[in-house]
Amino acid sequence: MIGRMAPMASHIEDLAAFVAASPTSYHAVAHITSRLEEGRYVSLRETDPWMPEPRAYAVRDGAVIAWRVPDGWRPQDGIRIVGSHTDSPALKLKPNPVLSSAGWSQLGVEVYGGPLLGTWLDRELGLAGRIVTRDGEVRLLATGPILRVPHLAPHLDRTLADRVQLDRQRHLQPVYAVGTAPDPYELLLEAAGATGSELASYDVFCYPTEPSAVFGVQHEFFASWRLDNLSSVHASLTAFLDEASAGESLAVFAAFDHEEVGSSTRSGASGPFLADALRRITASLGLDDATHLQALAASSCVSADAGHAVHPNYAEQHDPGNRPLPNRGPLLKLSAQQRYASDATGSALWYAACRAAGVPTQEFVSNNAVPCGSTIGPLTATRLGIVTVDVGIPLLSMHSARELCGVDDPGHLAAALVAYWAAA
Ligand SMILES: [Zn+2]
Repeated sequence: MIGRMAPMASHIEDLAAFVAASPTSYHAVAHITSRLEEGRYVSLRETDPWMPEPRAYAVRDGAVIAWRVPDGWRPQDGIRIVGSHTDSPALKLKPNPVLSSAGWSQLGVEVYGGPLLGTWLDRELGLAGRIVTRDGEVRLLATGPILRVPHLAPHLDRTLADRVQLDRQRHLQPVYAVGTAPDPYELLLEAAGATGSELASYDVFCYPTEPSAVFGVQHEFFASWRLDNLSSVHASLTAFLDEASAGESLAVFAAFDHEEVGSSTRSGASGPFLADALRRITASLGLDDATHLQALAASSCVSADAGHAVHPNYAEQHDPGNRPLPNRGPLLKLSAQQRYASDATGSALWYAACRAAGVPTQEFVSNNAVPCGSTIGPLTATRLGIVTVDVGIPLLSMHSARELCGVDDPGHLAAALVAYWAAA
């Protein structure tokens, strides 16, 4: 890439590889754990007792928590957590999915989260997710491009030419074949390498198969599916695995599932996974309940989730005084309604991390007439009672099947997170 600093170029290339390997939350977790294993992190199962381990991780479905205990760690050194989410809006395969209409075979899908539905049209889609066989084996799968949700040509309805109106039941079913189609369950088994087994159940999603790309006359933009929120998952993972992030606090990397559908699941940020994992970690280190709470009181959390850059065609939707642009640094997200958990204490932690890393940052706050989104930040702050700050890189087209960010911002986020963990 011409004109960009080498570390940023390699970070964005690695992010592209991470997205390609992570079409679903389950794949993201598998990819994260393989990188943790390379970094000598030990896998602990929730069904086993947890021995004290300086570097370990635990997986719950599409969520993963990893931690690193520094030598000589004391409760008053606290815990520094970076949280993100592994899921993105998508179309999810229904049970008994085969449909037929007018000589076509189609697959029935449900809407997962809040995708910009129009952006899913006219893209080659694959199927990806996990299956469970009747033997109880869980396997991941990802097919190549096999589906498409087709637009209607303007000649057939002029009223749709400028404004797509999609009925969520009638207009989103992807085409699968002309005439009789192969059994999709056999296809899932084959893609999972489980031919000959019997399918018990599945969590399978459509995903856009087009690779991510750097573009722009100055090579300054990055287009990809799942920047919300793999940009944060990847930045926090690379920061966590960077030895320069070693500090005095117990470092925790947490990536939750199901943020896009409200987080209230066993692997979501409103579930007990993080609180339970933290208690089991401190118990393995010999802390009683009171000392655990003492450690939490000395702790903090960075909630990393993508946010919005100012949109030039809709600038009036943004706050007039805070207009973030790509490649000007990750956002600090603020909301008086506490839709983001940031307060002055958490914000000061973030500014200190950016200053130490030498990366720019910019503030995001909503236009008062536009409802503010939310993140896992307020959920973890409410569950754990620790200081939390909401941050993330600015995007255009959030929840599109192809979002846009600046090529430098993911690397800047990773550098700031290294500095956050490394701080005394
Ligand atoms: Zn998000």
